[in-house]
Amino acid sequence: MGKIISIASPKGGVGKTTTAVNLAASLAVAEKKVLLIDLDTSGAAGISLGFADNDRAPGVYQILKYTHSVRQCIHKTELKELDFVPMNPLKPVDEERINRLSDNKMLLHQLLIPLKQEYQYIILDCPPFIRGLMTAALAASDSVLIPAKVSHLSIEAIEKLFEHLKWLERFTNRPVATEGIVQTMYESRTKSGSIFQNTLIEKFNNILLSTVIPKNITLSECAYYGKPAILYDANSKGSIAYLELAQEIMRNNEYL
Ligand code: ATP
Ligand code: MG
Repeated sequence: MGKIISIASPKGGVGKTTTAVNLAASLAVAEKKVLLIDLDTSGAAGISLGFADNDRAPGVYQILKYTHSVRQCIHKTELKELDFVPMNPLKPVDEERINRLSDNKMLLHQLLIPLKQEYQYIILDCPPFIRGLMTAALAASDSVLIPAKVSHLSIEAIEKLFEHLKWLERFTNRPVATEGIVQTMYESRTKSGSIFQNTLIEKFNNILLSTVIPKNITLSECAYYGKPAILYDANSKGSIAYLELAQEIMRNNEYL
């Protein structure tokens, strides 16, 4: 049985999509069968994988409207072991509708369970706000991986997420494990970087992953070229860091 992991934080711009795309690609390179699903209406994960607007359908919108099954919305990617369900390009009226549809918190849970037979990892890229698709994603997940970028707001966001998870667990009667907190865009020689790292160690030592993702130009550049870092520059520090993150997650999930 595979595992569903949400990449989530209620803070914007902390590296959720970069982590979702590059972790998924790194797990696929390690020959794990991976499905990445874009649950953010910005469609950033699809753009980062080189999907043009016309290629981002059928996608999550059709799944939520029940016009297509999840399987009908699975697209192949450049990596053999990585499949992808895109978020459609949406008009404002569709976004309204998607928000209403995702009020059904258990919808994704029911739809994704059968896919755990086929994929070892199902990675969900979440939007930066709790209501709607992030909550539906968390309710469908076995665990949550939380990217944290230097800022006191990142700490507040982690605490808010855990509070929300407690509430959600009571609602769904189903625990969501913590896959870990991963530091992103880390700059080793800055004072703010080390203060932030110490705060994370102090507050969350037992769930802080040992892999640290450095600030690295390749990770922002490759998204523009529509490729995961591993296919854009496999020797960059960013690619290597995400390969390490995949190894750490595989070690923590040896049974998969
Ligand atoms: P949102 O909340 O808007 O969905 P996000 O949490 O998904 O944002 P990303 O889109 O992954 O965050 O990253 C925000 C910006 O930082 C992007 O421009 C991305 O290319 C860049 N970025 C992410 N990680 C790194 C890194 N390690 N080094 C350099 N740039 C990075
Ligand atoms: Mg994002």
